[in-house]
Amino acid sequence: MTDHDLRDLASPCPECGLVNHAAAGLTCRRRPQTGDLSVCGSCAAVCVYGPDLRLALASAADRLALDSTTNRQIDFVVKAVKRIKIRGPSAWRR
Ligand SMILES: [Zn+2]
Repeated sequence: MTDHDLRDLASPCPECGLVNHAAAGLTCRRRPQTGDLSVCGSCAAVCVYGPDLRLALASAADRLALDSTTNRQIDFVVKAVKRIKIRGPSAWRR
C-alpha cells in the first residue's frame, strides 16, 4: 500500500466530520475493504467502510460479527484516542 492508494479514501467521519485520509490496520497493512472497521482519530467513533469506502457509524451487529480479540483491540484504540485528546500524545504509551 502506498500513500497514492490512500488519496481517494478521503471520507468524512459520520460523527465529527473529520475527513480521514489515511488508514492503518491493527494487524495488517493493506487498503481497507468494505466491512472493515475504523476508529476516527479525532472523536474515536467506531466506523465501518461501506461499498464505496465511505465511512458510516458501525452498528452493534458490525461489532458482534467480530471475534473477541478484535473487539478488545478496537476498544483499546478507542480508549487511546480519547486519552490522547485529553492528555496529549504521551498518553498513548500509558
Ligand atoms: Zn470522528
